[in-house]
Amino acid sequence: MSDFAINVQQLYRHFGPLKAVNGISFQIPHGSVCGFVGANGAGKTTTMRILASLDYPTLGRAEICGYDVVSYPEEVRRLIGWMPDHFGNYDHMTVVEYLDFYARALGYRGKERRLRVQEVVDFTDLGSLAERFSNKLSKGNTQRLGLARALLQDPQVLIMDEPAAGLDPKARVELKSLIRVLAQEGKTIFISSHILSELGEMCDSLLFINGGRIVHHGDAESMKQNTDNGGLLYDVQLLGDPAELASWCLLQPKVEMIEARKHGARLRIPSSDVQDAADLLQRMVKDGLKITEFHREERNLEDAFIDMLGKIDRESRTPSVPPPLPASAAPSSNYDAL
Ligand code: ATP
Repeated sequence: MSDFAINVQQLYRHFGPLKAVNGISFQIPHGSVCGFVGANGAGKTTTMRILASLDYPTLGRAEICGYDVVSYPEEVRRLIGWMPDHFGNYDHMTVVEYLDFYARALGYRGKERRLRVQEVVDFTDLGSLAERFSNKLSKGNTQRLGLARALLQDPQVLIMDEPAAGLDPKARVELKSLIRVLAQEGKTIFISSHILSELGEMCDSLLFINGGRIVHHGDAESMKQNTDNGGLLYDVQLLGDPAELASWCLLQPKVEMIEARKHGARLRIPSSDVQDAADLLQRMVKDGLKITEFHREERNLEDAFIDMLGKIDRESRTPSVPPPLPASAAPSSNYDAL
């Protein structure tokens, strides 16, 4: 067996002049859960589609359990469960008919097929909706159906593109617990999401992509540390108009308002000395702000994400020599099938 469930080496995917994926390399060990993080348009779906053997790289290599996705697409499709961010349903097909259709396409026959469909229906708790039309389900139940479909062939590797998008909090919690069970069963899970707090809780590692390049791969803690500019974060609430606090912050050279809140704001002070925080509070009160809450907050993954993007933005303004393409990266594609 290959050392890694997912192994990506110097992968490129260009759409004309757009470098959607621009020379990424990463490995995901068997049985681990990896969160794929990045701003809109960063290259997540493009990477995932290549891994699912639905698109070709311009250059480079991607393997699932040792199988190259371009040379061995059939093997790859047998090994993975793919849950796209959007998927089509068919009119007038019930949940069970829909799953039965895909199970048949996967080669399940007779009793084995009925059993398999029943198993994924039970796992995703779709039993009570089995006879409902599959295109009339709520968003949360549609996502369950997508997961059920992805699980039909009991895949070793599950690739999930934004499975939590648009789900209400209850549906997100339920989806998270299903993912946890799958991880405990030893499946490798590669999951993209914009809901960073949830990814942090369930992932062994986070892969951060920006502008088609990997900018960080490590656990949630290392991502927070890697981007930590120092300083302290405070939640400040006040009586009256929170805009007063925002205006006050603008006049303070060493206070950064990082998020407006209903009754105040989240502030950062560059110093790690609590004396500076005490001075800040004193100045606020002295300047007439009616503070009702002032408490320290931990850095979270959203902070790390925003700081990482800020760091990249600053670095991009500093002139630097762009990293060269590998010698073999001729302008043309190495896969003619494009
Ligand atoms: P999001 O979080 O918004 O889903 P993403 O990280 O998944 O974004 P991708 O969908 O991979 O981003 O897109 C990366 C870039 O490639 C974007 O600029 C997108 O417009 C572009 N792109 C994706 N597919 C194509 C295509 N088939 N043709 C041209 N450009 C494309």
